[in-house]
Amino acid sequence: MRLKTSGRCFICDKSFSKAGMTKHLKTHLKDDGSSKLFHIRVDGIYQPEYWLHIEIPAGAKLKRARSIPERYMA
Ligand SMILES: [Zn+2]
Repeated sequence: MRLKTSGRCFICDKSFSKAGMTKHLKTHLKDDGSSKLFHIRVDGIYQPEYWLHIEIPAGAKLKRARSIPERYMA
């Protein structure tokens, strides 16, 4: 059985399904051409009900991206 989950957008505080969040974030995350960003989706391999979207500057160190899920999943 596939478990449906929802999450809260930290930008507008509305809730969306996992698939809906990917579409929703495109309304907030627009390319203004000023900086290169990566939109990363983190999924739990064995527990896919845990997921997280991260936007991070392309020049950021991987260490910074790895610390973000730890902050929100503790
Ligand atoms: Zn939002």
